Amino acid sequence: MKDFISVNELEIGELEKKYVNEALDTGWISSDGPFVGKFEKDFANKVNRKFGIAVANGSVALELAIESLGIGKNDEVIVPTFTIISCLNAILKAGATPIFIDAYSDTWNINVDLIESKITKKTKAIMVVHIYGLPAEMAKVEDLAKKYNLQIIEDSAEAHGQQYFGKPCGSFGAVSTFSFYANKHVTTGEGGMVVTDNEEIANRCKSLRNLCFQPEKRFIHQEMGHNYRFTNLQAALGLAQLEKLDQTIQRKKEIGNIYNDIFLNHDQIQTPIKKTKGYINHYWVYGIVLEKMPAEPIIKKLAAANIGTRPFFYPLHKQPLLAKFGLNSDEVLPVSEKIAEYGLYLPSGVGTKDNQVIQAAESLLSLL
Ligand SMILES: *Cc1c(COP(=O)(O)O)cnc(C)c1O
Repeated sequence: MKDFISVNELEIGELEKKYVNEALDTGWISSDGPFVGKFEKDFANKVNRKFGIAVANGSVALELAIESLGIGKNDEVIVPTFTIISCLNAILKAGATPIFIDAYSDTWNINVDLIESKITKKTKAIMVVHIYGLPAEMAKVEDLAKKYNLQIIEDSAEAHGQQYFGKPCGSFGAVSTFSFYANKHVTTGEGGMVVTDNEEIANRCKSLRNLCFQPEKRFIHQEMGHNYRFTNLQAALGLAQLEKLDQTIQRKKEIGNIYNDIFLNHDQIQTPIKKTKGYINHYWVYGIVLEKMPAEPIIKKLAAANIGTRPFFYPLHKQPLLAKFGLNSDEVLPVSEKIAEYGLYLPSGVGTKDNQVIQAAESLLSLL
């Protein structure tokens, strides 16, 4: 039997081991160690931000982003419907109301032309997500934010090292967030970061991350914080990964291009956008939309052939959990609903070998 090709083969090398061992040797294993601050500083620098606040994961980074902006009850937050559940959870946990926007059928990113008609007096922020490593149309989002005095929350969890017209993803709006989960361009196993240029927001995130202990009267709490801390061991891993980010992106592009060449002009496969005037695809994952059949049976057949894939996101506006918040509706957002049913992504981890990419691509072709 052929070996299983995981959807996300990792690549952890000597540098990661060296830094993690250094952390272990010094005995700094909790969030108090020196690598945490260094990682925050280096990562924030990489995306042109003044402050970085490392946290337990990318989902809680979104929660802190919303909380630190003071968004809560009676506020509305505009969010792409085609994204991960973390975006919705963060809005709901704050007591705010999500307003869902459909995707473009070619980039799978938030359709910015649909935003303006959804803005109301209650709208406080636009959350944007750079889906699968392709930047969202930030110019239009910035225009709307300015015109209606809205905050931008930029979820860059799939776009480390990516740029939009030369400006780093993670540098737009008041607050941006990252994840360092195992499949992200920079991984610390689990982990995340909030980045901002605003010192007040940064301090608020730091306090909320650490249970709102007070500097003077440590055990007297004015507010309810969280333990969302990030450890020195994770930071050690992250520093090594950050040094390798450019190589990681290079490899991701190579993988994307191998798939692109094999699928070239295939009438049943919609491949990802390669580039536009303002950016080049990083292929955080290599997603495709099938033209003639739903993804699910193909995903099952590929799994039987030992090839790991994932379906596309299930649209947020269709999530059953909305009913618990009295927010379920029969709204139809057709593009997201279609790509959710027909889309999947193929093995595209940084450690995925050329022959594995070719095998995955050819197995798919043989099923169509
Ligand atoms: C991965 C991801 C997250 C969540 O990050 P976790 O670290 O897994 O909590 C949030 N947003 C997007 C767009 C992601 O891809």
